[in-house]
Amino acid sequence: MSSSKRHHTKFIFVTGGVVSSLGKGLISACAGALLETRGLRVRLSKADPYINVDPGTMSPFQHGEVFVTDDGAETDLDIGHYERFTQASLTRHHSFSTGQIYDAVLTKERRGDYLGRTVQVVPHITSQIKENIFRASEGADISIIEIGGTVGDIESLPFLETIRQLRYELGAQNVLCIHLTLVPYIAAAKELKTKPTQHSVKELRSIGIQPDILVCRADRHVPDELKEKMALFCNVPKEQVVEAQDVDNIYKLPLVMHDQGLDQMIVDHLNMWTRSPDLSPWEQTVARLSSPQGKVRVGIIGKYIDVADSYKSIEESLVHAGIANQHAIDPVYIDSEDLQNSECDIASKLAGCDAIIVPGGFGNRGIEGKLRAIEFARTQQVPFLGICLGMQLAVIEFARNVLEYPQAHSIEFHDQCTEPVIHLMDTQKNVASKGGTMRLGAYPCTLQAGSKALTAYQQQEISERHRHRYEFNLRYKEVCEQNGLLISGTSPDGSLVEVIELDSHPWFVACQFHPELKSKPLACHPLFRELIAAAIQKMTHEDKDT
Ligand code: GLN
Repeated sequence: MSSSKRHHTKFIFVTGGVVSSLGKGLISACAGALLETRGLRVRLSKADPYINVDPGTMSPFQHGEVFVTDDGAETDLDIGHYERFTQASLTRHHSFSTGQIYDAVLTKERRGDYLGRTVQVVPHITSQIKENIFRASEGADISIIEIGGTVGDIESLPFLETIRQLRYELGAQNVLCIHLTLVPYIAAAKELKTKPTQHSVKELRSIGIQPDILVCRADRHVPDELKEKMALFCNVPKEQVVEAQDVDNIYKLPLVMHDQGLDQMIVDHLNMWTRSPDLSPWEQTVARLSSPQGKVRVGIIGKYIDVADSYKSIEESLVHAGIANQHAIDPVYIDSEDLQNSECDIASKLAGCDAIIVPGGFGNRGIEGKLRAIEFARTQQVPFLGICLGMQLAVIEFARNVLEYPQAHSIEFHDQCTEPVIHLMDTQKNVASKGGTMRLGAYPCTLQAGSKALTAYQQQEISERHRHRYEFNLRYKEVCEQNGLLISGTSPDGSLVEVIELDSHPWFVACQFHPELKSKPLACHPLFRELIAAAIQKMTHEDKDT
């Protein structure tokens, strides 16, 4: 569809300058949240300049967490921010990479769509980028598109050229550009410096893009005279130079941005009429965040603990659970490999944890350490949540230590094992290629009457997102149940085990799906909420006992 027919949707592009990791995703999400408070329908997308088709095959060391959408796309973790801050349920159309764009163009080229013509970056690649942007924007009043990487990178040029073209084709009134830059503090000079911002905007303007709003990341207040300087050098009105000072909690950001008029600027520039913003849900959230009644320490036992963002959604879900229970959360990352060292005194290592989470993962490094942590949580009555691999390991731990099957294991880690309590799913048996072939996305699950899971969710039919190849081996269902492991959630036909729990424990619940992908600050996921509630209850009892 030609771009001229798309006049009903307005577009916001968010670019970044100077350095990466400034938080473009958060600023985009925040803008989305504020526009929703004005009753607008918002969609958010991320255009990533890398060549991989998606991040599904990248290690968390490379890319942080892989975020999975309802429709089973493995996407960038910024999609997680978008969903957490807004009501939009995003799909595979909202995360695309250079690799996907070229893949689509090359498929068309082979099909003969460009017969007789030379296929070029402009116009063919840029047209495909527009096609992806329009598809991602369907039904939206405002579509926010974040461009990954930093202005000046070779890889992001086709995306920036597309913004230039769209602004020309649709008019400045329909396309707004926000540029996020760093204003660093130089300790020796005791000054914030604007020069990197000036250079980055110069670079952007040399590509033909004039930013409308500058968002300046700084570790302190950016004084007016510096804003004036940036405004002058960058051709941006001074009131549209906004500062994004570090905040101690990202959910304070929508109100911080609103106070500087970000949403008003956006609707003014795009010439939109909206109702006045209803900020009360965000105000309540910030109020709860700011008045915690205690602190809960949650041990997260993983192997990617040194990588920022590898457990991003879990960390955020815990913040949400803190908001829901009005407690501060102190996440403590514990290296699973340390726990498997025979010298490690597990009790003292985990003693300070009020709750324990074993998250998802792949590969056998640190597995035995995670099993020890699960055993500790089970025997010491510490509230526990196992996620995906965490559920599979909880089953293995139960089989080894309660059923007394010392050989129990998962086929993933020991393919000749004689007690394969976790085995490969039938649908995975003939899968050869690695990209996008796991059991991915949302599937329905039915919860058992009388279970803790049902009490938490308050509904019997739920839908949750998955990313795995292995599953509970039904051959062991009966013996597990006879010994106190409750299978509390299954696929509707009963063929796949989705949730397990222990009757004889205050809160020991594990699930094959990823609840962290659906938790939001304004609506915490029930399993995280109840994990923290159980931890608080345990702490209260212990206080009484001492
Ligand atoms: N490696 C396990 C599987 O493929 C668990 C995956 C996960 O935790 N996401 O089933």
